[in-house]
Amino acid sequence: MRRKTAVALVHHPVLGRDGKILTTTITNLDLHDMARSTSTYGLDALYVVHPFSSQRLLAERIIGHWIDGSGGKRIPDRATALKCVHVVEDIDGALADLSNEEEKRPEIWTTAAVAPGSEPVSFAAAKESLAQDGPPVLLVFGTGWGLAPEVHERAAQYLAPIHAREDSGFNHLSVRAACAIALDRLFG
Ligand code: SAM
Repeated sequence: MRRKTAVALVHHPVLGRDGKILTTTITNLDLHDMARSTSTYGLDALYVVHPFSSQRLLAERIIGHWIDGSGGKRIPDRATALKCVHVVEDIDGALADLSNEEEKRPEIWTTAAVAPGSEPVSFAAAKESLAQDGPPVLLVFGTGWGLAPEVHERAAQYLAPIHAREDSGFNHLSVRAACAIALDRLFG
């Protein structure tokens, strides 16, 4: 029985170019693309994490447009993908929604282009772990210049950075691409 798994797109706390903590804005493209990837691999949810109510309202409006609004009528497939999206204030909101009373508290697994520590977990080992019984998993992706250290410090583990078999020396993927590649390596 596969472990219950969801994706989180985090807009705070993330790093800015100068390494300071900042809050990024939600982009329509991230939301759509990651909802489609999450739905393609049959995961439980995509959590869009934002501390500002105005931004959460924007995300809810985008989702509403594509599920119940004219977008959903015009392109029903899009509605299917966006039905997995939940907008929450913070990572704890995602963890609370992902687990129910009976289940153990979900584990946070983080991602980054540069491993935040010395012991990243390979995708092969992570895939193996997800195929067993165990607590739910929240796969966390960042924006800006990456997840803040405090998010990695909360993680049960962090996945090895995605890069080519023959490392090209560049691997700073868009969050959309990183999510799609990671999900395919874990569930493809
Ligand atoms: N504005 C950028 C964009 O266009 O998406 C945001 C970049 S953001 C730092 C990219 C996020 O995708 C990272 O926080 C991480 O979660 C993930 N990511 C990017 N490159 C990655 C890689 N090589 N391996 C694993 N995750 C990666």
